[in-house]
Amino acid sequence: MRDSHRRKRILTGDRPTSDAFHLGNYVGTLANRVRLQDEYETFLLLADLHLLTTRTSDLEEVGHNIHELVLDYLSVGIDHEKTTIYLQSLVPEVLELAWIFMSLVSVPRAQRIPTLKEVVRDLKLDTASMALLSYPVLQAADILMVKGNLVPVGKDQLSHIELTREIARRFNDTFAPVFPAPEGLVGNVPTLPGTDGKAKMGKSLGNAIFLRDDAETVKRKVMSMYTDPKRIRADIPGRVQGNPVFIYHDAFNDDKAEVEDLKARYHKGKVGDVEVKQKLIAGLNRFLEPIRERRARFAAEKGLVEEILSRGTARARQECLQTLSEARDAMGLTYFRDREAIQVLK
Ligand code: ATP
Ligand code: MG
Repeated sequence: MRDSHRRKRILTGDRPTSDAFHLGNYVGTLANRVRLQDEYETFLLLADLHLLTTRTSDLEEVGHNIHELVLDYLSVGIDHEKTTIYLQSLVPEVLELAWIFMSLVSVPRAQRIPTLKEVVRDLKLDTASMALLSYPVLQAADILMVKGNLVPVGKDQLSHIELTREIARRFNDTFAPVFPAPEGLVGNVPTLPGTDGKAKMGKSLGNAIFLRDDAETVKRKVMSMYTDPKRIRADIPGRVQGNPVFIYHDAFNDDKAEVEDLKARYHKGKVGDVEVKQKLIAGLNRFLEPIRERRARFAAEKGLVEEILSRGTARARQECLQTLSEARDAMGLTYFRDREAIQVLK
């Protein structure tokens, strides 16, 4: 079989809802992408069609967001020679695959996806649009169109991968075995909380520390971070478990002995929040400084992002056309094979 010899594949991506990745995106998925890009053939998409599921205004800024997010990829160590980076909307055939998949998913099944309720709540929407309801089906099409085997995501996205597996199984059972059943891969911190103590740091939630925040901004955000609310004085024993400040220390402070010492003293009421936060600021800046430096270097290369995206998109589109044709054959949709030829007639 055509697929049996090649390396396993990763597909994952991000919505260009803002122009910067945050620490949650890093520990949830970016770190795994960097770590696995040699072992797996990796595809990364900027999911601008998925963006439309929650936003239909201020779309002029999306191009800028895409540009900046690609620079963030490069600055954390994603290598554009190894990884295919592409723009979802420039591979419109994925919508045909998504449409095929929609016929395999019931409305109640789509409504049971937990992120749907969360998004409606967080963004204070009156109701979900058809596009928002179909969000995970389009995601399944993205993953399956490159026959992705592994999907590094934050924990919030695991229910989408489960649906992708169901769709792959249903398609294969109904027609012919075309698709693998991909696995989700959650990062070291399944869901990094926000600086406000909310369960999830989010690009659009106003509670994020961004990878390209400068040292001053990191300081300001950490100093106003939510910690243990019961601890109104430094001599009151504090809670380390579930405390966002310590979750960040564990995830980003490379001085592990310092972190253990702070935790022990916090438990006993022997350290103030200010010291804990100052050490976190220093740890975060040690982590972020090389990322900032690489970013500045890549940003100075004119035309680099556009070149990466056009090369990556051409590659991804090839894959999509191939998979779509296999899917159509499996379904018996063979009545017009030469789909390119019809354009000649126009
Ligand atoms: P938005 O608020 O616009 O949905 P987001 O911050 O959730 O943005 P996405 O683009 O939706 O970011 O997600 C990109 C990837 O980062 C996904 O794999 C998602 O699971 C992961 N991710 C997002 N936030 C976190 C977090 N706080 N902790 C761990 N992983 C996260
Ligand atoms: Mg999200």
